[in-house]
Amino acid sequence: MPTVLRETYPTAKKEHICEFCACKIQPGQKYVRQTNVYDRTLYDFVTHQECNELAHELMMYDDYDDSGLDGESFRSQLYSYIYDKHIEDIYTNWKFNRYEIVKKVLKELKNE
Ligand SMILES: [Zn+2]
Repeated sequence: MPTVLRETYPTAKKEHICEFCACKIQPGQKYVRQTNVYDRTLYDFVTHQECNELAHELMMYDDYDDSGLDGESFRSQLYSYIYDKHIEDIYTNWKFNRYEIVKKVLKELKNE
């Protein structure tokens, strides 16, 4: 598991790409920046606040104790959630970009 040295919530000054959903983080948007160390390598991990929150809500972090949760695992768990819950309307109500899907799922989880 990577060690999180610090987690900050800065406002984007330029465009970033979210490591989880692979969509853009727009300038002016608040995002999550984790500084991690893994295998003696220091790196920054940048995500949307919503994507980070969703990973916690769906307990995605629990399954990854080796190299940490990566974007690919995040996306496959996101899709398996939607397939589980929304298979009947997946083509009508879930045709958004991935960041929109993340926000929609998050909203749904909070209303449960
Ligand atoms: Zn994202």
